[in-house]
Amino acid sequence: MGDVNLKSNFSEVVTRIEKACRSCGRSPQEVTLVAISKTKPKEAIEAVRALGHLHFGENKVQELVPKMEHFSGDEEIVWHMVGGLQTNKIKYLTDEVDWIDSVPKLKALKEINKRAETSGRVISVLIQVNISDEDQKFGCEPDDLPALIKAGEDMPNVVIKGLMGIASLEDDLEKVRPQFTKLRELLEQEKAKGYKRAQLEHLSMGMTNDLEVAIEEGATMVRVGSAIFGSR
Ligand SMILES: *Cc1c(COP(=O)(O)O)cnc(C)c1O
Repeated sequence: MGDVNLKSNFSEVVTRIEKACRSCGRSPQEVTLVAISKTKPKEAIEAVRALGHLHFGENKVQELVPKMEHFSGDEEIVWHMVGGLQTNKIKYLTDEVDWIDSVPKLKALKEINKRAETSGRVISVLIQVNISDEDQKFGCEPDDLPALIKAGEDMPNVVIKGLMGIASLEDDLEKVRPQFTKLRELLEQEKAKGYKRAQLEHLSMGMTNDLEVAIEEGATMVRVGSAIFGSR
């Protein structure tokens, strides 16, 4: 943690979110901040949790699992897996994770459903969509999205709550805006189909660099790491 002032960092991020919401006529209540604590010690999470914050996320299974175990007595804390998912590691998550925000394909969705059933739980998931066209590894292609959501309709131990996307890293933020717009349009398009089980309400988009643009384009969850916990 060094001299990183978590309390003031955190309140600056909250202020950024509030300002961005105000600038586009949205309520800050509509936007959940997910604090991304990857590579940071559990003490840093404790400090932010002590401010009353609930949502935390990690991008690696081997880092998320021990952190969830450390906080297992905390019934209110909400854990998100936000990183690349290897199917064979999903089983380590499903006892405790609340949200899996980075589901890219049917195989992963099926495995989450199967393992969540064993754990007697229902896990909230977001489908990660490739919106940057940069790296095909991250997220499903927009064309494959409808089939994935449809498959989820027959999986009682997952509820698809929306979409997640990672924009390309740009100096000019106007270059990321169309990527966020695309994700919002995809969500609206799928929502209009009136799925029975899927609850397509969430758009997880926006990080330290681009959270304002993401909020302007409809983000309901922003995933912020370095602005809170310091650089990695
Ligand atoms: C690290 C990470 C973030 C947070 O990134 P910052 O730029 O540090 O805010 C958000 N989402 C995912 C998937 C990440 O891996």
